[in-house]
Amino acid sequence: MREAAASDEVVPTSLILFSSWWRTVVPTMRVLVVEDEIKMAALLRRGLQEEGYAVDVAPTAEEALWLGRENPYDVILLDVMLPDGDGFEVCRTLRGSGQWAPVLMLTARDAVSDRVTGLDSGADDYLTKPFSFAELLARIRSLLRRGELAEGRAAVLEVGDLLLDPATRKVTRGDRPIALTAKEFALLEFLMRHPDEVLTRTRLIEHVWDFAYEGDSNVVDVYVRYLREKIDRPFGRRSIETVRGAGYRLRAES
Ligand code: CA
Repeated sequence: MREAAASDEVVPTSLILFSSWWRTVVPTMRVLVVEDEIKMAALLRRGLQEEGYAVDVAPTAEEALWLGRENPYDVILLDVMLPDGDGFEVCRTLRGSGQWAPVLMLTARDAVSDRVTGLDSGADDYLTKPFSFAELLARIRSLLRRGELAEGRAAVLEVGDLLLDPATRKVTRGDRPIALTAKEFALLEFLMRHPDEVLTRTRLIEHVWDFAYEGDSNVVDVYVRYLREKIDRPFGRRSIETVRGAGYRLRAES
């Protein structure tokens, strides 16, 4: 009784109201940091917590897999070189077990082969070490924003027999479901919102990646290739056209 009275005195009502309002409008985002370097992991944990994220750290591939299967993360930061395996394998395994949280790979080398392997394994984006914390935060926000935007727009998109539901994040061609990574989904969604329109690489990067993205535009070509492998080739279609010197176009009739 006495404690309750005392705490009533020290916490102004306005502050209690503000903090409950804040919790309602800004749900805590949960981040899994997979990193074996203790200093780096501590730095990431502290920095992300200061930004209001809930953070779990996994120093090994084994722990990453366990945590990733048990918890619904909003974003996963994944180091490539781990003491008991590599991040690519962790990403593939998590995707295989139905963990679809956006994955941001932290690669030590700026090698194209690393980036392609990362994207092939189902990662959504990559960041080369050393990176600035500001850039890391921007990439995380961008990944989260795309997820939220997709949830907020309910209308099912239809181009030919290709259907994409932004709310449930399901894609089908005819009656066959197609599994896409978050990035492939975002790219297809943008293409489907502009059927028969020529979209330049720059425009695709601005809308699907981030307006502040400074990586090379080859990433668009890489993802278009992934999409073709999933939405076209198995169905004998060629719906995503390369418009030489201009960009790409999703044909309404294919
Ligand atoms: Ca490492």
